[in-house]
Amino acid sequence: MTAADLPTAVDVVIVGAGSAGCVLAERLSRNPDRSVLLLDRGPAGWPSPTVRDLHSLPITADSPYALAYTEASGLGIVRGRGLGGSSSVNGGYFLRWHADDFAGWPTGWHPDDIDHAYRELDGPGGTMNVSAFGDDELAAVVPRFEEYWSRTLPVRPHDEPWPVVGVNRVRSNREGTMRRTAAEAYLRAALNRPNLIVRADAEVDALVSSGRTVSGVQVGEDVVGCGEVLLSAGTLGTASILLRSGLDVLAGADELPVHEHREVLVHYRRRVEDRRTPLLQSVVHTDDGLEIRCYSDDMARYIAGLPPVGPAVGVAEMRPGAPGAIRMTTAGPIIDLGVVEGLEAARLDRGVGEVLEMLRSATFADLLESDSVAVDPVVRTSQHAWGSMPMGTRTDWLGAVVGMHGLRIVDGSILPTGGSSGPHATIMMVACAIGDRLARA
Ligand SMILES: Cc1cc2nc3c(=O)[nH]c(=O)nc-3n(C[C@H](O)[C@H](O)[C@H](O)COP(=O)(O)OP(=O)(O)OC[C@H]3O[C@@H](n4cnc5c(N)ncnc54)[C@H](O)[C@@H]3O)c2cc1C
Repeated sequence: MTAADLPTAVDVVIVGAGSAGCVLAERLSRNPDRSVLLLDRGPAGWPSPTVRDLHSLPITADSPYALAYTEASGLGIVRGRGLGGSSSVNGGYFLRWHADDFAGWPTGWHPDDIDHAYRELDGPGGTMNVSAFGDDELAAVVPRFEEYWSRTLPVRPHDEPWPVVGVNRVRSNREGTMRRTAAEAYLRAALNRPNLIVRADAEVDALVSSGRTVSGVQVGEDVVGCGEVLLSAGTLGTASILLRSGLDVLAGADELPVHEHREVLVHYRRRVEDRRTPLLQSVVHTDDGLEIRCYSDDMARYIAGLPPVGPAVGVAEMRPGAPGAIRMTTAGPIIDLGVVEGLEAARLDRGVGEVLEMLRSATFADLLESDSVAVDPVVRTSQHAWGSMPMGTRTDWLGAVVGMHGLRIVDGSILPTGGSSGPHATIMMVACAIGDRLARA
């Protein structure tokens, strides 16, 4: 699987073998009469157990499975690449959004269809092998965290797939402590189909278009012609391709909006060393849109380059207001996540205050040094960028780019709302549902 020997023409080109792209490649190649080419800029190999181990996020700038983007204020932004994309390297918490997070979605997204697509992934025998962390797998802080919040908030039963406002034990896509990637779940079994061609080390530079019609992709010196291009290069990758392609429909814009779940970390020092566990095993969802994340370790153990500051509880703002932007420059894409202010800043402050109170309470007294509890001054990112080409405005409910022919987007870019938890399960749900429609077309 290398970039050599690209076909000159196929029916469909899918750009990006990540969380969404793997699902689409499997769905669309079910029809033996449709030729499908899946391209990824990452390496051809299957991410090894070392890469997929939930005990170690292999996020280093020099990893072949990760790509660092530049952020204007110096926040580290990374994405997975290669077979599985970000599903090969992410935190492995695989929670559905709340049912009312879909209220602003365009007509066509029926609650029963959403539930059906989620169930394919996380239901009994589901493709992503999702299960909640068991009581015997937890870091010591997790039962204390859950006990503290359960005094005032409901607790979701561990096998219930829909999250609640309250305490949610994390459900994770995993085999033991190995992430179950989108490539393992969808691509591996489809690879022997003669109508599916997969090429790695194949970076798409731009779309080939004339007026409002897209007719192929440019990969280095090569052009591959096709009836439709599906962009699944992730929110940042897809925006980069769109901005480099100078499409009529973007009317000369050199930037696209990007939303993020901004997060403040509250650190502490442990009294005694804890067992090594996956990083995130329990979260609280508040009714005003915060996700409080009980991390079990120091992020610095997982993401190279971060200063070691101790384990943390994160407070993430899940209903952000004004978006940041991804801008194309001669040096490449630059992301500017902007500043958090107004209502969102006030909500984050309130959440941080509650977490400070929690960590200094008697519940945690024997686990941590209470005078070590400190708020990180940097408002960080959850690595969740979404929403640059939302369904209902820039794309239709199946991801077709409004005003263009032959161009569809299916990845984090088309999420029209931000959701109450991480985007992974929902991006894959969207790919399953749209993939079903396209497979029947
Ligand atoms: C470190 C990290 C931790 C995270 N943790 C969680 C979590 O615990 N829970 C959660 O819900 N979400 C999490 N997320 C977010 C979640 O993983 C992503 O939102 C999701 O995987 C994105 O899926 P996607 O299909 O949009 O893109 P991706 O899975 O990122 O796939 C995009 C693919 O496109 C390829 N590509 C990009 N540009 C090009 C190009 N020009 N040509 C060819 N190929 C290209 C890339 O190599 C990549 O393989 C995390 C993300 C990261 C990075």
